[in-house]
Amino acid sequence: MKSMEGRLVCVMVWAASTICCSFLRSWMELFPNHAVVRPDRMLPCRRKPERCEGDNAHTLYRSSESDHGTDTASCSEHGQSPSQLSMSGSGGDAQCESNSNKRRRQDKGTPLERFDRKHLSVTDLTRQAWCEQQVFYGLELPHIQQLRDDAPVVKAGSSIHLARELEIQDIVPINIESREDSWAVKLINFLSMIQFLQAGERVRELPVFGEVEGILLVGVIDELCYSSSGELELRELKTRAQPTFPSAAQRKSYHLQVSVYKLLFEALVKGQLKKDTIVQHLQLQTERSFGSEVMLHAKKMGLFVNTFGELLDLIFLNLTYIEIPTIDVLKIEYCYQADASVIGTEVVRFEEKRVVKELKHYCSFWKGQREAQGVDIEEAWKCRSCDFADICQWREKKAEEAVARNRANHRK
Ligand code: SF4
Repeated sequence: MKSMEGRLVCVMVWAASTICCSFLRSWMELFPNHAVVRPDRMLPCRRKPERCEGDNAHTLYRSSESDHGTDTASCSEHGQSPSQLSMSGSGGDAQCESNSNKRRRQDKGTPLERFDRKHLSVTDLTRQAWCEQQVFYGLELPHIQQLRDDAPVVKAGSSIHLARELEIQDIVPINIESREDSWAVKLINFLSMIQFLQAGERVRELPVFGEVEGILLVGVIDELCYSSSGELELRELKTRAQPTFPSAAQRKSYHLQVSVYKLLFEALVKGQLKKDTIVQHLQLQTERSFGSEVMLHAKKMGLFVNTFGELLDLIFLNLTYIEIPTIDVLKIEYCYQADASVIGTEVVRFEEKRVVKELKHYCSFWKGQREAQGVDIEEAWKCRSCDFADICQWREKKAEEAVARNRANHRK
């Protein structure tokens, strides 16, 4: 596979959305030669959009597959609030009826079914580690979640990530015409980066995916590189509004994030993920031909494939022969948003048993094996900054329990 202009060219999806225009414009001004649209930031919706994952009355917003803990995915043509949907007029009656039937069906299903999620992002899990109830409300009330994700502090974090990425790789816009196209772009990026990694080079924004507890997990590793002693290092960048280390609770979710990346990456390069697993989870059509731009790009990258199935075969064949070491070091770098200075770096100890146990617990919620759980009383401070505090039934229940306990203590 060839690099273009001697640099790793990371091809991303061009999606015509108005939502992120001002953000994009500012980046286009900084980098006039490169479009900076990325599939992780926006759903791949075109003029006549493919159905977006999570696109129903409940889930007009979905968390992104990018895993900075700050990213958003939005789809302009589906960005109506539930109340807007209910006002869609008589012409949409049949559609509304079918939507409401579907909604009724989904309401009885597992959270994965209910929110129409074919996969989860690693960010979903790290958000769960903070407060699972908050994740649930974010899906139920996507317009509120959207406000959270549109906050300036979140945008600033995304900008720093993007600037870092552009230090070593270009981003090229590509029109996509289907979900298969969107995933093809991710897979081509993955294969391209793996080959650079094999050649001993640094890669950034590496997509990873794998099956955990019967659920497809997708993530993006900020950076993989070799240290001076030849160890393979995973580096995760976290940006901060204050020049301080995050709380222990926040760091705990970051530790989970980098540990899950390691698990996913290593399963991939060891060839443990199977082609059928991806196809079945994502419900993609292997025989579907790529759109013209994706086809052209695949050719430019030296991949002579016409369909999604052919691309998958090629990727999995490559993974059989590829020799990439396991990740030796997990590092998190904290960076101050105001001046991009480094606050500090943390090395995370990988504890596989603990991570696997945590994953099992978090996935059991998505599989409908238990209800969403809010924070414990010791972490009630998290509720103070939560946008769902006013409606949170978990919080209400805990408050009532505390009052009852106090009364009982008083009577003794
Ligand atoms: Fe979680 Fe507290 Fe927010 Fe409820 S109010 S969702 S328990 S952080």
